[in-house]
Amino acid sequence: MSADPVAVTVDQARCIGSGLCARTAPDALTLAANGRAAPLGPTATPSDALTEAAEMCPVEAIAVRHATTGELLAPVW
Ligand code: SF4
Repeated sequence: MSADPVAVTVDQARCIGSGLCARTAPDALTLAANGRAAPLGPTATPSDALTEAAEMCPVEAIAVRHATTGELLAPVW
């Protein structure tokens, strides 16, 4: 994965609040007060943990995209 910043989004309508992602990538994701996951900021540093978090989400609520091009980096199958 490129070292360029990535844009992280969470579809809160899909999130079931399992907390898996926040435990896997605490530098980029957190559980918000509403019990749903949320990115810590609009962009993040790419990491294996962040990729893993996006790929392990049971409802595919997380998208990690290249911050400039919008290319979907995770999840990819
Ligand atoms: S892993 Fe998916 S469902 Fe679980 S808290 Fe994170 S975004 Fe929500």
